[in-house]
Amino acid sequence: MSLSPADVRADPAGDGRREANAAAVFRAVLDHGPTARSAIARMSGLSPAAVSRQFLGLARLGLVRERPELAVGGHVGRPQVPVDIDTAGPLVGGLHIGLSHSMYCLLDLRANVVARGGATHAGRTGGAVLDPVLDRLPAFLAERAGGRPVLGFGAVTGGWVDPEAGAVVRHAALGLRELPLRAPLERALGVPVHVDNHARAIARAEILFGRPEARRGVVHLFIGNVVDAAVGVAGVVHQGPRSAAGDIAHLPVGARGARCPCGRTGCLQATASDLALAERAVAEGVVPDPDVSLLVDAAAAGDPRADRLLRQRAQHVGRAAALLTDVLNPDVVLVTETSSLLNPEYLEVMGAELAERSHVCDDPARLVGPHAGPAVLPVAGGAPALAALYRSPLRSTGAAPAGAAV
Ligand SMILES: [Zn+2]
Repeated sequence: MSLSPADVRADPAGDGRREANAAAVFRAVLDHGPTARSAIARMSGLSPAAVSRQFLGLARLGLVRERPELAVGGHVGRPQVPVDIDTAGPLVGGLHIGLSHSMYCLLDLRANVVARGGATHAGRTGGAVLDPVLDRLPAFLAERAGGRPVLGFGAVTGGWVDPEAGAVVRHAALGLRELPLRAPLERALGVPVHVDNHARAIARAEILFGRPEARRGVVHLFIGNVVDAAVGVAGVVHQGPRSAAGDIAHLPVGARGARCPCGRTGCLQATASDLALAERAVAEGVVPDPDVSLLVDAAAAGDPRADRLLRQRAQHVGRAAALLTDVLNPDVVLVTETSSLLNPEYLEVMGAELAERSHVCDDPARLVGPHAGPAVLPVAGGAPALAALYRSPLRSTGAAPAGAAV
């Protein structure tokens, strides 16, 4: 389609500039809101007139709103009315596919959890793991959104996930290979679906909604039934060719006895994954079933054997964090791991091990848990959709053509 001279006059800078300016204002409101438009202009580097124009466009889409009730007394005039993200407006949905259970949710535009649900897929492998959620999700979104528009949907899991292809390339524990996620979910839900690895999604959520220093540099370790990592530099999460970055399953952490399917011993996944830990806990008679939540409960109830196993795991995670920290020297070392989400003492063990082992970081406080806390998995699910919305607010809401260059 070619542009007529009138089109060019109407938008001389092109859709790319318009989208970039809208995104800059949207992000500044996210970072600093509620605040006055004049402050948004200072922080985004745009003129007050441009900020007002972009704000109006974003408000028409329901993404931002004025907060007159927060205006400081004595200041009259519209520029002083604080503006903020509209957390009572549109939503995004999210899905996290775990080893035996899928969790789905609705999030507002500041990544607060509005509703959540789940379905088991225990015993299923391959494409069949999606069947229970495909059955339930359309009704969940219709009933729980309460009439609020759902702008997009995120779907995340562990292993090798390719966002461009919208597919899981490989997830050995779930028996997934080249499984499309985006296409079946878009067919079932009728909204744009964004797919990613869960470690990258949590890193993106931290960059958008969490600690400001995570924008400069963040390394994230996800320690669950599978282990994954993500690296973000200058606000961009690295993916690499076919989005394969982040496989830390075979990082050597030097633990004795933990034989890995790759043939070596001491690999991180074989040493420190939830599965490996739970199997060790069963073998030592600490818990009856290989379920890490039983171990966490036992430690919380005062069982010293359970506590010792969790501390050992925290040390192994700290070693892996030290290896990655020496290579990348990130501003934030983020760790998502079950026991430390509930008890910060295990996070302190990881931080101490990091400071002890690293050659470039002697500060245990550089290692932190995700800002989302126990809501980290729902937030991970919706994060790819929120990241797309904040990157391209006009395209993501259909207010600019999907093919427009940005
Ligand atoms: Zn290995």
